[in-house]
Amino acid sequence: MMQLAQLNQLSDSEFTAQLCALYEHSPWVAAHVLAQRPFANLAALHAALENAVHSASPDLQLKLICAHPELAGKAAVSGQLTAASTSEQRHAGLAHCTTQQFEQIRELNALYVERFRFPFILAVKGHNPDTVIAQMQARVGNAADQERTVALQQICRIGWFRLTDLVAEPIADQIQSQCVELAQYSDLPEGLACSYLTPAHQATALRIRDYMLAAGLTVDIDAVGNVTGTWHSEAESAKTLLTGSHYDTVINGGRYDGRLGILLPVAVVSRLRRQGHRLPYHLQIVAFAEEEGVRFRSTFLGSRALTGDFPLALLDSVDAQGISLRDAIIAAGHDPQAIGRIARDPDQLLGFIEVHIEQGPVLLNEDRPVGVVSSIAGSVRSQLSVTGLAGHAGTVPMHLRQDAAAGVAEMVLAVEQICSGQSGLVGTVGQLLVPGGAMNVIPGRCEFSLDIRSDDDAGRDSAYERVIARLQDIATRRRLALTHRKVVETSAVACDDRLSQLLAGSIDQITGQAARTLPSGAGHDAMMMARITPMAMLFVRCGNGGISHHPDESLAGEDIDTAAQVFSQFLDRLACQT
Ligand SMILES: [Zn+2]
Repeated sequence: MMQLAQLNQLSDSEFTAQLCALYEHSPWVAAHVLAQRPFANLAALHAALENAVHSASPDLQLKLICAHPELAGKAAVSGQLTAASTSEQRHAGLAHCTTQQFEQIRELNALYVERFRFPFILAVKGHNPDTVIAQMQARVGNAADQERTVALQQICRIGWFRLTDLVAEPIADQIQSQCVELAQYSDLPEGLACSYLTPAHQATALRIRDYMLAAGLTVDIDAVGNVTGTWHSEAESAKTLLTGSHYDTVINGGRYDGRLGILLPVAVVSRLRRQGHRLPYHLQIVAFAEEEGVRFRSTFLGSRALTGDFPLALLDSVDAQGISLRDAIIAAGHDPQAIGRIARDPDQLLGFIEVHIEQGPVLLNEDRPVGVVSSIAGSVRSQLSVTGLAGHAGTVPMHLRQDAAAGVAEMVLAVEQICSGQSGLVGTVGQLLVPGGAMNVIPGRCEFSLDIRSDDDAGRDSAYERVIARLQDIATRRRLALTHRKVVETSAVACDDRLSQLLAGSIDQITGQAARTLPSGAGHDAMMMARITPMAMLFVRCGNGGISHHPDESLAGEDIDTAAQVFSQFLDRLACQT
């Protein structure tokens, strides 16, 4: 493959000649973008080409459309297609249609041409004869203008697939521009929000599917919206290594959380495949549809479908607009009845490995690009309420007050003090409110949240008990009433020793530094996957002080490169042991 840097430096005629195959018999598309060189990345080059197509005159656009061959048509049968078209049509199984499918496509082609006066065009990657026929049936009913737009979109999509086959760019550049591109699909006009099964979420899934197809993977989207790309091993009976992360985000989130763990394995596999590399096990990259719990307030819906723990009772729960989870799944074109069939057979799995940004400052502070996760912290979360006595801010003397907010202020400091100085233990009061509070009223009630986490369950439970006892003392001394209710309690999940050692060995080799092991304070899909298969996690350093779940989330290109090399090394080390 040619490198983008080389392409940028070709003479005008060489550049046009290199790219002429992207747009069927239409070198004018490439010629149109000559003056815009150098292109910073492939996405920018593709955007320029796409713009050339969309801004061309209607006449030229029609010529471009008509330059395309009929799908499975006469040209295909008599071997007159361009090399690119032949290969694409063969991969969609169009060379091996049954007689009945072939007949159906022929009839639909005729109907289509009669109606629109141009050939039916479809980027066939990822399709099979049945889905091609379904597309033809759906589109033959379109209005003429609409169908012309669809045809041009499909031409650009074909152009993108051909471009990714022809020109390579560094992995870090590719992943950075993919993260930027995916972040454009948002539920919000500004900032990134990608909640489960919204239009932005579904567009994200389709784009991830394209990335996987371009990498040469077989892709499937399951009944909860997980997008799974498979790299089949030659050994059919081989077991499967799973990897992946989530593509949903929090509201106003960052572009790397979750997505890095999908795009990095896809990029690594793409490169290994092109180098002719083979693995003795199947590798599946899962883009989990839901992890954050934003829309239906229930987390890990994607990974829980794989582990067989999807909470079916939750199908009746509704989002803020009153739409049920069941209806959202159906509206996205999925079948809730099929959710049970997503569950994996643990006997067929080698393990699960998740690549994720650290979402904290530890690696950054120690100047390390990557680290191995030892375990994922368990957490206990409570909602607490303190009741005192409301009163006039001017008339009640200080020593007679029962101020709920002042009591809680002391409690927050107690949480901080008890949870400090013990490795792996953290405690947070993230919500604090004075319901109905006013400037001139002594707070009669104050509500707050408590979140305590540790990689050591016993240590966490004992810290929780000490915190509650201390808060009770404070309340008694101040003549306040304290109530508390646990809302979440999860155990810490240890990462698998063998897989973690393979990761650590890979880090040693790639970075020349002994691998740093650190606990994960945040929950991840890997936590769920550990229920059915050995699990390990690779953390990648974040910039900007380690900030995450925020638009300022950042990731350096060199760190992406290091993580990709470590991941690739890990696959090989696992191969040696399989
Ligand atoms: Zn995440």
